[in-house]
Parts: sequence; structure tokens; C-alpha cells
Amino acid sequence: MNPLQRMAKQLVIWFVGLAVLLALFQNVKSVQQESEIAYSAFKEKLRAGVVTEVTMRPDLIRGRFGAAGGKIEAFRTYPLPDPDLVKEMTESKVALYRGEPDKTWMTALLINLGWVVLFFALWWVFVIRQVNMGGKQALSFGKSRAKLNQNDKKKKITFVDVAGCDEAKEELQEIVLFLKDPAKFQRLGGRIPKGVLLYGPPGTGKTLLAKAVAGEAGVPFFSASGSEFVEMFVGVGASRVRDLFEQAKKAAPAVIFVDELDAVGRARFAGIGGGHDEREQTLNQILIELDGFDTKEGVILIAATNRPDVLDPALLRPGRFDRHVGVAAPDLRGREAILKIHAKDVKLGPDADLSVIARRTPGLVGADLANLINESALLAVRRDKEAVSLHELEEAIDRVMAGPSRKSRMISDAEKKVIAYHESGHTLVAKMLPGTDPVHKVSIIPRGPALGYTLQLPTEDRYLTSKTDILNRLCVLMGGRCAEELVFSEITTGASDDLNKATSYARKMVTELGMSEAIGPIIYKKDEGEVFLGRDIARGQNYSDATAQAIDAEVKRILGECHDKTRTILAKNKALLEAIANRLLEKEVVDAAELDALFARPLPQQAAA
Ligand code: ADP
Ligand code: MG
Ligand code: ZN
Repeated sequence: MNPLQRMAKQLVIWFVGLAVLLALFQNVKSVQQESEIAYSAFKEKLRAGVVTEVTMRPDLIRGRFGAAGGKIEAFRTYPLPDPDLVKEMTESKVALYRGEPDKTWMTALLINLGWVVLFFALWWVFVIRQVNMGGKQALSFGKSRAKLNQNDKKKKITFVDVAGCDEAKEELQEIVLFLKDPAKFQRLGGRIPKGVLLYGPPGTGKTLLAKAVAGEAGVPFFSASGSEFVEMFVGVGASRVRDLFEQAKKAAPAVIFVDELDAVGRARFAGIGGGHDEREQTLNQILIELDGFDTKEGVILIAATNRPDVLDPALLRPGRFDRHVGVAAPDLRGREAILKIHAKDVKLGPDADLSVIARRTPGLVGADLANLINESALLAVRRDKEAVSLHELEEAIDRVMAGPSRKSRMISDAEKKVIAYHESGHTLVAKMLPGTDPVHKVSIIPRGPALGYTLQLPTEDRYLTSKTDILNRLCVLMGGRCAEELVFSEITTGASDDLNKATSYARKMVTELGMSEAIGPIIYKKDEGEVFLGRDIARGQNYSDATAQAIDAEVKRILGECHDKTRTILAKNKALLEAIANRLLEKEVVDAAELDALFARPLPQQAAA
């Protein structure tokens, strides 16, 4: 409904209300069923002695008389100058007669008041409503409109309803235990995080996980969205935050969930056009609440964002959102599990193999998969089928993928193969060279702009890095591109980020770390430039063009040598490269343990470079 329609509807409601009131008023009058009679008729009845009651006002006479058949009837008449009326009434034995003050002024007042009320009502309808619609309920001011989900037994969401993010579930398990029995945790002196930040791409089930935490623990769930806190009036958001925390504390133990935290939690900038007072105040209030409340009270704040990178660092400090839980796009097994959850209430035919669908949908997240199942069910209904068959499921994939953003996530089998070899290249080189960080996980599930990734985690903090270590890292970066060359005799754009990184490392070696013999131990750092002009604007170099040429040549040499070395390693271990790639194609994610198992298998050409 657009605002105009809504306003029209409001008006109609007002007029109907008014009409009903008027009708009621009329009714009250007619209930009394007074009949208006002439003064002469009144006097006649008086003389006949049937009048039983008279109420006199300067402008009106009302009363009752006994009519034929023993009925009592009400009448009214307008007074005439009649000085003997009271005497007459006494004589004809009217049981009750009395006077009444003139009430016309009151009626007048009421009518006028009516106008005032009507005016305010109209003003409210037109002005305030409009303001509200524009600024989203500006008049409910500081009250939090957090929705409270008391977990009713029927629709309780638990971890069973969430699949494909086992690591996140495991991390949240501790929060559940705490919420179930806050006192126990206190006794043991454990410090429970106050805030948990769930981050990951949209639709991966962050909201669902937060609900499941509350559901598992059986505590109330207060949810609000970050964007609700950013209002047209400064201070409204902050007061809503306060109210939200107050509500939750009253219901403790409880979970507060703030969706889209980035809407309020963006880093605070200084400078041109930077400030947004309202957002900043809201953010400050959240920080104050986080600092102020004690986990003893049994309230846990869970927030979700798909942009953890833009969050204000103050939010991520210890004692605030100090637990960060990543919710990644699901892998093959996860996708199958999610499909199964959503297919629970759908009748599947005998050929509807969900593992086939999972295999065909790399990059799709939980929300997409839920949608996919739903689409397939709709298709089956439209075709009057008894059950959903594989055919409908496959057609539903195309529908779910139809959006432009989804299309880009659709990866063909050929591309998948290239990605698998590329990542295997990184992994193999990393495993073969000493001094590189151990490979923790390899994945060909797209994540952000990356089509796949090889996750290397350091085993210990390092403060010194040797030249050999850096060269080895360059080789790891080259591994992806080299594997593509070796296997497909063709190269793709997939290595651009790797090459970018490798180039900047190599340049740093030459110009900032003095690690090139040809250039020598000298720093040729470029000027950082004036801070206020921005780094990229004011760049000058403090060395000659000849030096610049020498630097470029050195960078090229280093990269070239690394490239050759990497190719040699990969060529020598091609069987292993293929083994990793095949395992990746099969499972999409391969972890450290599995990699070790692959490397432990005796392969003919295995040799350290
Ligand atoms: P997010 O908050 O991460 O954007 P949601 O939690 O709102 O995602 O997910 C939207 C819907 O998608 C959920 O209600 C659920 O039906 C489905 N969904 C998403 N992720 C999962 C999952 N991991 N397991 C089961 N269902 C999921
Ligand atoms: Mg969400
Ligand atoms: Zn790469």
C-alpha cells in the first residue's frame, strides 16, 4: 500500500467512526421515545390528572404521563408563560416535579470541543502519520521495537535446524551451556563472552544460528536490526538500545540479537562528510551497554554482519564482541544436509537424490537451498505430480540461480576443475617447501571474490622472516598459476590476486628490505606523502630513473626464478597434484589431516625440492 492509499484508508476509518458515533447519539435520543406534544395537550393531561412526572427547564418541559392501557409515556413540550403551572401541578397531584438549569451553554461547549477534537484528529492523520511513514515511527521515540520470540514449544528452532556450519555450532555450544545455567559458570569462575559476532555472507544462517542458541537454551530471544537504530532524530537509536537491554535484563537469562550490526557499527571517521551523529550515538550506547552489563545477569548479545571488515575496532575489543564466529558458505556435505532439513516437509520421489543437487550447487548458501526446495515443490504442484522428482529439483536450481548475482556464483564443471588444480598448486608447493605456514584447509567453495582458497595458518608467532622464507612464500603464491600452466597448458585470470601479492612482496624485498644483491642493502622507499592529501596523490620517488630500472629488473628476476622453481616442484610431483585436485573436486574442502594422509601415501615421484 502506498502512503496515499494508507491515508485514504485512515480517512475512511475516521468518517465511519464519526458516523457510528452520530448514529449512537441519535439512538440514545430515540430510546427515550419522547413524543413532542403541544402545550395545550400537556395542560389537558395535567387537568386529567394522568401526568406523573415533570422536569422543567427554561427552554423545555419533559415528563411522563399514564396513557391508555396503563402504559407510561414520555413527552416533551416547549414552555409558555404560565405563572400558575406549579399550582396546577400541585393540584392535579403530579408525583414529582422539579426544575433543571439551562444546559445550552454546555451543549455549545461540547459541540465546540468536538470541533477541536476533530481538528486534532485530522492533524494527526495528515501530519504525524506522514512524518511517521517518512521517518519510520518517529513518535514511538525511544522505545525499542525489538521482537521478542518466546520460544513456543511448537516452532522452537534448535541446532538440528541448522546444517553446514558445524564449527560455528560448536563454538556457540558454550554460550548455550552458559545460558542454561549461568550460576554454574559463575561458580567455576569462567569468563563468558558478552558479545558474539557472527559474520559471513548473507543467507548462510546467521540469524538462524542466533535463534537456535536461544532455542537450545530455552531462553527468550530479543531481536532487532541495526538499521532500526538509525533514525531521523539524534538520540532515538541510543534510547532504543537502552530500552532493548533493559527488556532483556528483565527476562534474563536471554539472548539479544542485533542483525546488520554494520548499519550502526561502521568505523567512525573523522574528516570530510564523515560524521553521522545518530549512528555514532547509537554505537556509543551499544558500547556503554556492553561495558556496563555483567554476564552474571545472564544476557548475551549476539550480532550478525556480512561486513566484519567495516566494523568499528572499538566493537571488537576484549570484553565486547570478543568472540567471533565465522559462518561460511556450506560445503558439499553441508549443502546436502541443509537440503535434507528443508526437504523434511516435502514429499520427494524415489529418484530425487539430494546429493546430486548438492553436487551441482557449489556457492549456494542455506537461504538459496531453502528457496530451491520450495521452488521445486511449487513446480511439482503446478505439474500435478504426486512427489517432487529430480527433474523439478534440477529445474529449481536454474530458477534460484536466475538472479545476476547468483549467476556469477554458478561455476561450471570445467571452471571447477581449473580452480581445483589452482588451489592444489598452492597447497602442494606449501607442503613441499620448508618455512611456509602449514596448510590448514583448502577449499574450492567461492568465498567473496575468491573462487577458492588455501588457508595457511602459522604455528607460532614470528618476528623475523628470512629471505628464504619470503622466497618460499612467493613460490606458494606462484603455485596456482603454475599448476594451471602445467595441467591445462593455458592460464586464466584466477591468479591475478596471487600475482599482485607476489609482485608487491618482491618489490618490498628489493626496495624496503635490502634483500637483493644487485641493489644492495639500501632502502628505496617511496614517500608516504601528506596524510591529508591521501597516500596515492602525493607520491614522489627519491631515486634516479636508472635505479628505478634496476629495481624493476631485480623484481622481475626474483619473480621469474620463483616461477621456475615452482614449476619444477609441481612437475616433479604431478601425481600428487592430481591426487589433491581430485580429492578437492570430490569433497570441495580438504583439511590438514586429509592432506597429510595424501602426502603420506607412497607416490613414485615424491621428493622434497
Ligand atoms: P543470514 O542471517 O545469514 O543472512 P538467515 O539465517 O536469515 O541467513 O537464513 C535465511 C533462511 O535460510 C533461514 O531461515 C533458513 O531457512 C535458511 N538457511 C540458511 N542457512 C541455513 C543453514 N545453515 N541450515 C539450514 N537452513 C538455513
Ligand atoms: Mg539474517
Ligand atoms: Zn591462487
